Amino acid sequence: MSVYYREVANEVDLFTRCYEQQLPLLIKGPTGCGKSQLVAHMAEKLKRPLVKVACNEDTSSADLLGRFLIKGNETVWQDGPVTRAVREGAILYLDEVAEAREDVIVALHPLTDHRRELYVDRTNEELVAPAGFMCVASFNPGYQRGFKELKPSTRQRFVTLSLSYPMPELETEILHRVTEVDLKTCQRLVELGNKIRGQRHLELKETVSTRLLVHAARLFKSGMSLRQACLFGVGQCLSDDVQVLEGLKDLIHLSM
Ligand code: ADP
Repeated sequence: MSVYYREVANEVDLFTRCYEQQLPLLIKGPTGCGKSQLVAHMAEKLKRPLVKVACNEDTSSADLLGRFLIKGNETVWQDGPVTRAVREGAILYLDEVAEAREDVIVALHPLTDHRRELYVDRTNEELVAPAGFMCVASFNPGYQRGFKELKPSTRQRFVTLSLSYPMPELETEILHRVTEVDLKTCQRLVELGNKIRGQRHLELKETVSTRLLVHAARLFKSGMSLRQACLFGVGQCLSDDVQVLEGLKDLIHLSM
């Protein structure tokens, strides 16, 4: 397997069962906790192509389903990523699905229930997803905080897996495997990460992710001091508030 994923809570088994039972899966968890890595790993394991769509409020159904394009003096149809994923029997990964507009999400509803159908209105095609197709979506409940919720009618179509930052020993192992930085340094980075995660009074919108620790480890590997690597790779990424940044810098100086 070329895409490394370290299992944290039996999620490979759940993902496999969903795939076999043709159930859509929603992975919820904070940013940088390994959601995309899990999906990439599973696509490889299940030998399915992966089609990833980063959802945002400007995403239209034409962006997802496809559109007619003018080429020379011809009009040709071009599949959007969702249509392509259905035709290919791929794993469709809708990243940050709650960011998409409601009408776009609703257009995908028939694909995420027992019908497994996609209606492409512009070409008047009704596609039935082949057995290899699976819909996976990710959702970050913390970061939405009250404003962008997923409607129950959407939520209840998906089996839901909740991921979080791994336990310290596992996170150390992940950092070490992903960056090839020595275990001792990885352990210190994870300790710093957990120290910052424990500082609730800083009121960070999002706390230190495994991704940020990976960045700091990579900067360190390039020859930067560990302290600098943590300032640029972790501290500065968490806040723009001068006082909060001072607090983060102090923590980094004390730890590194
Ligand atoms: P998300 O999609 O949740 O925002 P990613 O999947 O992009 O996060 O992960 C961010 C970084 O953390 C990547 O470098 C990834 O390799 C690493 N990572 C986090 N958790 C794991 C894990 N369990 N196994 C392997 N790598 C992981």
